[in-house]
Amino acid sequence: MSKCSFCGRSEQEVRLIISGLDGWICDECAEQAYNIVQENLHAQPSRATQDATNLRWEKLPRPEAIKRYLDQYVIGQEDAKRYLSVAVYNHYKRLLQPDTNDGVEIEKSNIIMVGPTGTGKTLLARTIARLLEVPFTIVDATVFTEAGYVGEDVESMLSRLLQVADYNIEAAQRGIVFVDEIDKIARKADNPSITRDVSGEGVQQGLLKMLEGTTVNVPPKGGRKHPDQEYVQVDTRNILFICGGAFDGIERKIAQRLNTHVVGYNSVQNVARIDRANLMQYIQPQDLKAFGLIPEIIGRLPVLTYLDALDKPALRRILTEPRNSIIRQQQKLFKMDGINLQFDEDALEFIVDKAIDFKLGARGLRSIVESIMIEAQYELPTAGVREFRVTRDYARKQIEKSHIAAA
Ligand code: ADP
Repeated sequence: MSKCSFCGRSEQEVRLIISGLDGWICDECAEQAYNIVQENLHAQPSRATQDATNLRWEKLPRPEAIKRYLDQYVIGQEDAKRYLSVAVYNHYKRLLQPDTNDGVEIEKSNIIMVGPTGTGKTLLARTIARLLEVPFTIVDATVFTEAGYVGEDVESMLSRLLQVADYNIEAAQRGIVFVDEIDKIARKADNPSITRDVSGEGVQQGLLKMLEGTTVNVPPKGGRKHPDQEYVQVDTRNILFICGGAFDGIERKIAQRLNTHVVGYNSVQNVARIDRANLMQYIQPQDLKAFGLIPEIIGRLPVLTYLDALDKPALRRILTEPRNSIIRQQQKLFKMDGINLQFDEDALEFIVDKAIDFKLGARGLRSIVESIMIEAQYELPTAGVREFRVTRDYARKQIEKSHIAAA
């Protein structure tokens, strides 16, 4: 008769007994074993959190290496990549700065990236965090409101960082927070008038404290602060904040500034050199102010860079070149069914043209490819084929059938 090898109880005494090679385990012992495994695994910080607390100078990737890594995943955006690589490198240098008594303290270099939606801001931040293996979280500035209003406290972004750091405070304190849509908390006009947008400015003030570096009481599970909740104290001094926003219409502010500055004889030459079609490259901190960010916030985001709108050649490259490009992902999916999937060049061009029509940046590419492939994904796994070629005609027909054509 079988007995549990752990507690010795017989089949009759327990609900279930599982047999192994030369032993048995009952349901209760199995459950207990599971709990022990869970507790032990959670007690050990993950690799990401260990690395965050064991930064080594020799291990730090240099800016060129960071950029090369970004190149594998992000197409174009050369300026943004360079700025980010240097800023992140400096950030970690700062964390490792030797304690010399020279009175020179390297200050934090939080980053702000300005550029149209779907051009790679989040992708850049996410890719950097993966390289550095530090806790990383993305928060949307639009959900924050001033304390007392419906919405989330600005501090809640730190709850999320704590969560991804497996509640390792040390690791969280060296993590990266990507604050998306920062432009949405801008004041509506340049001058702080009596009708100003109070909640926007309140949120900016809350954010400012965190950018500067402060100790924040964070509700570990997130949500609103509550009097009888336990808090964890998180010091934000070493957290790197990367902010991103589309800042729709900021080109107008840039143009205005360029126009007002170009007066006098010498500046005539400068006017000729301005690339009017791509004004974003001339962005300056004062344009952010004109857009409605408070000067203190701008001061705490000293690294300002921009992203280009994605043109046709860039979108075409995004389809196939990144290491985990949309096309490669499709090919992998089909390969698991033993099918070799190929796209004709003009089919890819067709996809890019559609994405331009939809004006969603690179975001549109994915939904277009999904719509084209849905029928094949449904039918081919049971059709017994080994090859599948997507031609322009096929792509066009599938799009015509799909819901997105109607949009
Ligand atoms: P946003 O600028 O709005 O933050 P994202 O970074 O979220 O845009 O981009 C959305 C998606 O589009 C990404 O997940 C990625 O697949 C693709 N994408 C956008 N820009 C690029 C780029 N420059 N290179 C490669 N893929 C990109």
